[in-house]
Amino acid sequence: MTQRVFDGHNDVLLRLWQRDRTGKRFLEGGDEGHVDLLRARRGGLKGGIFATFVPDPPRAPPERRPGGTNGPVDAPLHGSLSRERALDVTLAQLAVAFRVERTSGGEVRICRTPAEVAAANAAGAFAMMLHLEGAEAIGPELDELEVLYAAGVRSLGIVWSRPTIFGHGVPFRFPSTPDIGDGLTERGVALVKACNGLGIMVDVSHLNEKGFWDVVRVSDAPIVATHSNAHVICPVSRNLTDAQMDAIRDTEGLVGLNFATFFLREDGQRAAETPLSVMTRHLDHLLEKLGPRGVALGSDFDGALVPAAITDASGLPNLVAAMAMAGYGEDLIDAITYRNWLDVIGRTQRIAAEPSGTAASPGG
Ligand SMILES: [Zn+2]
Repeated sequence: MTQRVFDGHNDVLLRLWQRDRTGKRFLEGGDEGHVDLLRARRGGLKGGIFATFVPDPPRAPPERRPGGTNGPVDAPLHGSLSRERALDVTLAQLAVAFRVERTSGGEVRICRTPAEVAAANAAGAFAMMLHLEGAEAIGPELDELEVLYAAGVRSLGIVWSRPTIFGHGVPFRFPSTPDIGDGLTERGVALVKACNGLGIMVDVSHLNEKGFWDVVRVSDAPIVATHSNAHVICPVSRNLTDAQMDAIRDTEGLVGLNFATFFLREDGQRAAETPLSVMTRHLDHLLEKLGPRGVALGSDFDGALVPAAITDASGLPNLVAAMAMAGYGEDLIDAITYRNWLDVIGRTQRIAAEPSGTAASPGG
């Protein structure tokens, strides 16, 4: 039987918004990108956290990721976005998700809770949980957050690698510490508290280090990095230091292993011929720092170059085989590939439901 997988991060909605807003290509399959329903079935992918992401406006450099495959990388920090454009694009990408659900004949469900994911999977349906990668669509009063929550968003990255009214994203640099730039703004602190109150998971994957420690100080909920790796192995600014992982562990949070070779390899190269043993090295380190409940997958499918040994969602069993080869038992593998995400989402939502006076307050 193929191992079940619930994945913590993909950019499928971005690809569909760019290429096929009907979502047909997701339902019917094709060679494009990394994830569609057919390849998900072949790979055991039962669902995941689907990000909305607003690319830089056309006048800026066209590539989402900094280019070049050789030598040190020092990409400039991306410019900030207008809220109007961010909200337009975010709603358009969410619309693609809802269109996919509506036209899927029950095969895809947008899920808001771990129980809904479990129920969808039990019925043989694919589970999508919605995420905002960067909060540029949200204004200072946080009204958009309330509406996006009502639309099903249950996970949010305060920033992508860009400055916003909430904080400062970490630029892509290799080799580099993640300690680049200032921490959260007052509005960023309010956003974290509002997410805590609503039970929206707060994702620190694109946050710089000062912002990270601000989230640790402010948040009541488990802290997650949906798609980041170990800085001690691959010293890119987007990865987490051991001290950051210790802090995540203290919140009973979680780190999702990013499959992007740029965040995996010691030499920081983008190279498809990256062995899966590099991924299990990161997993070993994450497990050592975070424990068996604090590690999961965050593929970055459709947003990054992944090892050829995986290629796309249908190749997930190869990663599972590499984990078994590395000595991971069945129960640990199931925790990493499936259960841990649902558990941490559940913990986040339960904390929000507790009558502790941290209920969502209007913005400001
Ligand atoms: Zn990302």
